[in-house]
Amino acid sequence: MPPFNSLALNLPPLTTSMPPSSFFFSTTPFCKSFSKSVAMAAQSTSNAVKSRLRGVVFDMDGTLTVPVIDFPAMYKAVLGQDEYISIRSNSPSGIDILHLIEQWSPDKQQKAYEVIADFEQQGLDRLQIMPGAAELCAYLDSRNIRRGLITRNVKSAVDLFHERFGILFSPALSREFRPYKPDPGPLLHICSSWEVEPNEVMMVGDSLKDDVACGKRAGAVTCLLDETGRYDSPEYATVEHKPDYKVSSLSQLHVLLETNFDLTP
Ligand SMILES: [Mg+2]
Repeated sequence: MPPFNSLALNLPPLTTSMPPSSFFFSTTPFCKSFSKSVAMAAQSTSNAVKSRLRGVVFDMDGTLTVPVIDFPAMYKAVLGQDEYISIRSNSPSGIDILHLIEQWSPDKQQKAYEVIADFEQQGLDRLQIMPGAAELCAYLDSRNIRRGLITRNVKSAVDLFHERFGILFSPALSREFRPYKPDPGPLLHICSSWEVEPNEVMMVGDSLKDDVACGKRAGAVTCLLDETGRYDSPEYATVEHKPDYKVSSLSQLHVLLETNFDLTP
């Protein structure tokens, strides 16, 4: 029987002889018979030695909340159509808009931050919790597993998230914490405040270039949330940082944590 990764998460086994480019980005669709694959996975891993996981750190936008910010539209508004196309073609894994802006003159920077704040405000107005997030957090609570949050959004957005959904993350680091993702700094800060090793923590997010890169650089376990399968596209096959796991929903992550890890605080 093939190992769990290739069943529930559609990943080839870790001992695969496949070349690195095809290691993670399988072109086959997710397993349709998910409940069956989970049952088989639980059976196949019941006697395996599981890695200990003492904390989970989440990205916010598009991971704990339903994606509502139209990032391509925001980048175009900040950069202009031509520059957007040019930068996009040189950065296949995505644009680091905050980093780009930091190189600009104060005037130009100010305008860019206003445009971004506008898009973020529209996102806040339509804020919705991601399906499965509340259940997953309740499960982590039941196992006394720490929950942290790292976002490139502003602190007021995190405060609103905490207020509106009543689920607290601590520490919760926003972009006022420097350096921000994809730098490993915020994740290492959380690990040290929890007094746990980075490899005992999972970083979960919907961005390869920010969340997975931050997690890999810190030495954490990484899980990419890819609801639509957009990262199966060949343009992502050569990216530097590949996640250890990929799920298409938070419910799938819940099963992954339950079956593949030793959750001991
Ligand atoms: Mg995100």
